[in-house]
Amino acid sequence: MNLQSPPAPLVIPAPSLTTLPVRGTDARFPVRRVYCVGRNYAAHAVEMGHDPDKEPPFFFQKSPDNLLTDGADFHYPPMTEDVHHEIELVVALSAGGRDVPIAQAMDLVYGYAVGLDMTRRDIQAGLKKASRPWEAAKAFENSAPCSELVPAAEIGHPVEGAIWLKVNGELRQEGDLTQLIWKVGEVIAELSRLFELAPGDLIMTGTPSGVAAVHRGDELHGHIAGIGDLKTRVI
Ligand code: MN
Repeated sequence: MNLQSPPAPLVIPAPSLTTLPVRGTDARFPVRRVYCVGRNYAAHAVEMGHDPDKEPPFFFQKSPDNLLTDGADFHYPPMTEDVHHEIELVVALSAGGRDVPIAQAMDLVYGYAVGLDMTRRDIQAGLKKASRPWEAAKAFENSAPCSELVPAAEIGHPVEGAIWLKVNGELRQEGDLTQLIWKVGEVIAELSRLFELAPGDLIMTGTPSGVAAVHRGDELHGHIAGIGDLKTRVI
């Protein structure tokens, strides 16, 4: 006797799953959640008017369907005149858990990518001033351009190396992974105290200094040593 009921039919078509390409295979990585870390490089904290001291990390989320993949163009979003680029190291998880000890945190990591946390800075400034949530500034369509994933099984776990962003060939943001205030393992451990992590989760780990506005026609080129490149055009 089969005790399992058949799945209920859906009243509308199922929303599509967002997936990322993975270097070296035709198989793709399915995305469950997109977590982001705020102010994780001292020089960026300072440029945004905050203290560079090590405070507990804070988090916000984007939606998986905000991801912009496979080199697609970035469509300039509505309701803003000040969209900023934030180049970030992206961590992809193949395992999850709650209250993950730092010593085991890296076991959760599937791989890495180069990402952009695109931000409607003018909207964010208004939300900060009003002590309101950040979604309208952070979680809009196309707001998370992301490169292909590179498995840690191939490249290990990068802890140093250049992270930069060029706009129309001109260097705008430049830092090094050694400047991360909260390291990848610490971010995973801290995040797992607030949320139950699971396979398919992405973490955007924060941006170095040099954030600035983009304009239609701009060519964005991000790079992280040992991981790869992300290119997108603003249209
Ligand atoms: Mn960011």
